[in-house]
Amino acid sequence: MPCYRCDRVQTDPGPGAGPPWARGIVDGTQILICPECQETDADWVSDLETCPRCGSTRLSIVMGSRVCRQCNNDW
Ligand SMILES: [Zn+2]
Ligand SMILES: [Zn+2]
Repeated sequence: MPCYRCDRVQTDPGPGAGPPWARGIVDGTQILICPECQETDADWVSDLETCPRCGSTRLSIVMGSRVCRQCNNDW
């Protein structure tokens, strides 16, 4: 999956592979954001959906539901 902002493709993550790519959900679609875009645009989290329970943006879509990686809430 390419970066949602700059379309850069994630290289194979291996041991010591640099800063992590962030995951999130925008408009019901799971997206990835590369470390460069996280750094150059501090506003990137404002596009993301947040967990209604804990406010985290670390969400995944599993079988059509959103799952929060922070508190395991799903909805
Ligand atoms: Zn990017
Ligand atoms: Zn949560």
